[in-house]
Amino acid sequence: MKKVVILGAGISGLSTAYWFKKNNIDFLILEKENHVGGSMQTICKEGFQIDFGPNSGLETSPFIRQIVDDIGFSNEMIYANDSANKRYILRNNKLHALPTSPIDFIKTKLFSTKAKLRLFAEPFIGKSNDGYYQSIAEFVKRRLGKEFLDYAIDPFVSGVFAGDPNKLSVKSAFPKLYRLEEVYGGLIKGLIKGAKERKQRNEQSKQNAKMFSFINGMQSFAYAISDTMKENIFLNTTVEKVEKFNDKWKVIYSIKNETKELIADYVISTIPIYSAEKIFGHLNKEFKSHAEEIYYPPVMVLFLGYNKNQIERPLDGFGFLIPSLEKKNYLGAIWSSTIFQNRCDETKSAFTLFVGGARNYYLFNQENDKLIESVIKEFQKTMKISGEPILIEHKLWHKAIPQYNLGYIEHENFFDKFEKENKGIILSGNYRGGISVGDCIKNSELNFKKCIN
Ligand SMILES: Cc1cc2nc3c(=O)[nH]c(=O)nc-3n(C[C@H](O)[C@H](O)[C@H](O)COP(=O)(O)OP(=O)(O)OC[C@H]3O[C@@H](n4cnc5c(N)ncnc54)[C@H](O)[C@@H]3O)c2cc1C
Repeated sequence: MKKVVILGAGISGLSTAYWFKKNNIDFLILEKENHVGGSMQTICKEGFQIDFGPNSGLETSPFIRQIVDDIGFSNEMIYANDSANKRYILRNNKLHALPTSPIDFIKTKLFSTKAKLRLFAEPFIGKSNDGYYQSIAEFVKRRLGKEFLDYAIDPFVSGVFAGDPNKLSVKSAFPKLYRLEEVYGGLIKGLIKGAKERKQRNEQSKQNAKMFSFINGMQSFAYAISDTMKENIFLNTTVEKVEKFNDKWKVIYSIKNETKELIADYVISTIPIYSAEKIFGHLNKEFKSHAEEIYYPPVMVLFLGYNKNQIERPLDGFGFLIPSLEKKNYLGAIWSSTIFQNRCDETKSAFTLFVGGARNYYLFNQENDKLIESVIKEFQKTMKISGEPILIEHKLWHKAIPQYNLGYIEHENFFDKFEKENKGIILSGNYRGGISVGDCIKNSELNFKKCIN
């Protein structure tokens, strides 16, 4: 008998468990792998620290700091260097800094004069009623024009979702952006009025949320949470099925080739939806089609280490993103050792590149080695790097990030209905309520509240 069983020990599962631990409520986490962290994966090799999953988080929820402080991990939390505020976009093989002030905007060569003038029309463009069925591409093209879509939003969408702007629903995937039109009638009006309102309420904009990581990388945070609840976590434990058992739930799981079961009042699933389908699908015949429709494109994370003296370009920013029109084999690069300390020693530089995603999934039809070679060639040309990398490491995520595509609202509605019909089961994880580390942590408190109310 357990009060609460949590499936999965990624950041969603661990942060959910934090609330039960804090409130002295009996719980158990079942995790299929031999380690915690899920997508958070950090390794050290030849003096470089490599994050194969999230490289950082945005401090969008006060719960992040609360958990860090409560588990005694404050001294390990680090914030990005100021230079990380500068971000570049590749256009015509040149890196252009994204403008951060009106003067920069007037001066930038990233956008043509025509595209800049087009912005003046934005406040006069009416609302659309397409809501959830409008793509981020349609939304931006209508409000800001095609060039903004191509050279600002398209690369931004790659950076967040590794997604396709023609498929992602603006209201599901970028609710805050959509809200500016819905509430204020436009993006420019919304930014100005929103800033005024926040000033009156003495609040900070979410866009100013601080970027954080940890001295020993993102996975160290997962380990630190799990260290406070070791006796409550079963590793190497695959959940096979969850069945109704009177007014409770029977969780069937396998550990070391043995099948076992336990009874729980609440089952909180934080595993990806394609895995959840095998476990809960028999409870509702619609489950399968909803689970199958949420697409997780493949993404390769390519880590490159160099000696500093190989690099001609100053590393004065977060990194750069690549619009699809530029036709490169990768989505962009993070200048990892510029953003955070401890990624390598002073004489070296570390970079994390992203390859594939929803628009470029076909790239993995070729040999990985060939693809990596072509990406390194393109990257070194842009960065003016000579010689070979001193370290090359990669990880291919076959199913990386769930896409909140057009029609995603129907999945959300189904998950709500499923929870109502199956009291005690909670479906959570990054396919619901936001994909970022910050959103997963914010949602953990909601998971807890669903059990105690
Ligand atoms: C390459 C990449 C880069 C990213 N970069 C960023 C970033 O910079 N910033 C950011 O905020 N977000 C980023 N994200 C997104 C973010 O990292 C994830 O959305 C988040 O970590 C997901 O956490 P989760 O706990 O919901 O799921 P997961 O991390 O996927 O955890 C699910 C867990 O469930 C376990 N599991 C699965 N099936 C079973 C089963 N049957 N039984 C038991 N256990 C099971 C898995 O082993 C896993 O440990 C990135 C994601 C990827 C893939």
